[in-house]
Amino acid sequence: MIKFLDLQKINAQYEEELKQAAVQVIESGWYLLGERVEHFERNLSNYTGSSNSIAVANGLDALRLILRGYIELEVMTIGDEVIVPANTYIASVMAISDNGLKPVFIEPDLDSYNINIKKIEENITSRTKAIMVVHLYGRVCWSKEISQIAKKYNLKIIEDNAQAIGADWNGIKTGNLGDAAGFSFYPGKNLGALGDSGAVTTNDDKLSEIIRALGNYGSKKKYINEYKGLNSRMDEIQAAFLDVKLKYLDKENQTRREFAKFYVSNIKNKKILLPEIPTNELEHVWHLFVIRTENREKLQEYLLINGIQTLIHYPIPPHKQLAYREWGNLNCPITEQIHNEVLSLPISPTMTDGEAKKVVEILNQFK
Ligand SMILES: *Cc1c(COP(=O)(O)O)cnc(C)c1O
Repeated sequence: MIKFLDLQKINAQYEEELKQAAVQVIESGWYLLGERVEHFERNLSNYTGSSNSIAVANGLDALRLILRGYIELEVMTIGDEVIVPANTYIASVMAISDNGLKPVFIEPDLDSYNINIKKIEENITSRTKAIMVVHLYGRVCWSKEISQIAKKYNLKIIEDNAQAIGADWNGIKTGNLGDAAGFSFYPGKNLGALGDSGAVTTNDDKLSEIIRALGNYGSKKKYINEYKGLNSRMDEIQAAFLDVKLKYLDKENQTRREFAKFYVSNIKNKKILLPEIPTNELEHVWHLFVIRTENREKLQEYLLINGIQTLIHYPIPPHKQLAYREWGNLNCPITEQIHNEVLSLPISPTMTDGEAKKVVEILNQFK
């Protein structure tokens, strides 16, 4: 069986270093808010180019805390609108609704799967305060136009960078394109911890200070609580693991790009629509390699019978989820079409050439 993603194999590459890191943390007797997290935050800032990095408990919290920080700064208030792609993982939307803000769903572009930037301006109202861009599947969602729109209407741009760490737009890393960015280090992400973790990056020092406090009971000084915060901290042990793995991220992303190129040049089956490789290949880190096909269930079943595990990202769009039944009547045909047709093929830094060849062969024989 070719696994969709072999996490055991990915982490086995660095087994000695990870074990050493774990032992150091265990023996230190210090497990939260310590040197390991500080060290990882510095490394993440160096990596992305952002002046501030705040380690938090997970990716959803990173996004929630950015918005909550803006509420504390009075940049936005309950009931304000945040523009978000309709085609995203539900966490992007939950971060908005959790703060009492209103998600305004925008249809994606069918070629990139990212928000259609041309449709943003017509959806801006007097209550719009931010645009959340999602670099979905690892592909950068950015243009000069989007920053111009934000400037014109005085909007913040928040990047959901859960899937695209390491991607680069004109020499700028994702996470350093907008006003603030949320990262996830969920084990299956391109930079995966061995458990839950996340981070915020921003060049806004005031926002950074508030987010750091909000993630720690709203406190800057122990037992002095300035805000109604939450408990959202990264474990020292996860920071130590992430520091080990961050060193290898660029190499792993490059391997993903090579497998993506191999798939795109060799999958030749008219029933399968391949993803677009951006002109500048650095704009994609291939967190997922997503194809489209009309009879997805049949293809998925066929691949499974032939020893290839695939997943669907995602089967139901946020506005069609029970959790968001209030948006159930929204009309987003492009998003719905995507959700009905997408299938994610195995892609990972530890996949072998033989496995990639087998995926291609089996796909090319699909009738
Ligand atoms: C994974 C993910 C998140 C949330 O990250 P967690 O660490 O699982 O909370 C948010 N947005 C997107 C697009 C994601 O893929």
